[in-house]
Amino acid sequence: MKRKLNVEVIKDLNKDVKVCGWVNSRRDHGKIIFIDLRDRTGLVQVVFGPNLKPESYKFSQKLRPEWVIEVLGKVQKRPKGMENPKIITGKIEIQATELKILSEAKTLPITISTDGYEINEEKRLKYRYLDLRRQRMKRNLEIRHKVIQFIRDFLIKQNFIEIETPILTKSTPEGSRDFIVPSRLYPEKFYALPQSPQQYKQMLMVAGFEKYFQIARCLRDEDLRGDRQAEHTQLDIEMAFVSQEEIIELTEKLYTNLVRNFFPKKKITKIPFIRMTHKRAMEKYKSDKPDLRKNKKDPNELAFAFITDFPMFKWHEKDKKWGAEHHPFVMPQTQDIKKIKKNPKNILAFQDDFVLNGQEIGGGSIRNTNLDVLTAIFEVLGHKKAEIKKNFKNYFEAFSYGVPPHGGIAPGIDRFLSVVLQEPNIREVIAFPKTSDNKDLMMDIPSEVTNEQLKELHIKVVKKSKQKNNI
Ligand code: ASP
Repeated sequence: MKRKLNVEVIKDLNKDVKVCGWVNSRRDHGKIIFIDLRDRTGLVQVVFGPNLKPESYKFSQKLRPEWVIEVLGKVQKRPKGMENPKIITGKIEIQATELKILSEAKTLPITISTDGYEINEEKRLKYRYLDLRRQRMKRNLEIRHKVIQFIRDFLIKQNFIEIETPILTKSTPEGSRDFIVPSRLYPEKFYALPQSPQQYKQMLMVAGFEKYFQIARCLRDEDLRGDRQAEHTQLDIEMAFVSQEEIIELTEKLYTNLVRNFFPKKKITKIPFIRMTHKRAMEKYKSDKPDLRKNKKDPNELAFAFITDFPMFKWHEKDKKWGAEHHPFVMPQTQDIKKIKKNPKNILAFQDDFVLNGQEIGGGSIRNTNLDVLTAIFEVLGHKKAEIKKNFKNYFEAFSYGVPPHGGIAPGIDRFLSVVLQEPNIREVIAFPKTSDNKDLMMDIPSEVTNEQLKELHIKVVKKSKQKNNI
């Protein structure tokens, strides 16, 4: 007989079914034992009573929490007054005829019956495969899955195409540090993991795909600050022949629909979403991601906002040089090269940030397709002219073969979910997150590799003193 999910057996009244899962709890009532059997879809009550075959009876006596079992039995209506409205299968129970123990379980090192906030997080992350058994984590990942599915459907209906871009790519200046990967076949050469698909999505515009999206993983070797992750997921979007307003409107429509569909209790402060220039946000709120909720105590209020007209450049006092406020591929609001080089401070860009309740949840822009302006920008950023052509050869070549005007946006999936689910950090909406100091405690990484591996990669490790290594 084919196994059924717990949620499916509701429809099988008076039929024989096979269900499998984990023993969530057990209650002994003399000759009868009740089990709450848990699978991904929830709990179902199993009754080990008079119908149980004798050889299964002895197994039922042994059952302990978290043992994995298989049960054959008949779906029955629960006796009057015994229904449990708290669970979806609360009107029925399974009268077991046969029981098989598929796997026993030691006592778990963490409790999974609570929401888990009270447990030391390192312990939760070390035993993430157990932590994910808790209902709250199941709910979070299920909503995440549904939200992503919704996004896909929404964009595909509007003629977007989803395209994967490489994970092994080239080091690019996107404001963070790259993770680099040594090449075995090409000694002394490296790949970089993508900080975002920025360059590829622009190449897809040159290629004529016009409306692209991807649920993309972005890898950034961030310094240890705030609620960040070495890898995060973003909804990466790029469009050709589009205005900044159209990009904003698309994002607005998508997020309004998402909230209405999945979080109907939430109230959006203002639709269309609030728009505010960067200048005004800084003057009025001293922040480029102001929290614009009317009532900050209301957990159901969502203040989405677009902060527009960002400066193109940012002065880095420490290094005494200009950096890009976002990334160098953004279109400045002037095409006057002399102005850009002479007065970088005053140059605004067609760049906007997408903000929710005081958190940045994305950023987008119209891209610069004018190669002379792009060169000027790189010069301001301290690159030599000759070097620019070499390092960004793909742009210079590709843009010379017919480039459409284009732009895009990339809202982060993790942060949006953590805000709407009222989770304290993004780790709560990611299946296998790293700790805030970039470790995966379950896999125990980063870890050493063998000398043979290093040799193959032509790499020599210089050992730092133990203390220095211990960040
Ligand atoms: N690539 C940018 C980022 O990841 C977003 C964008 O401009 O589309 O921040």
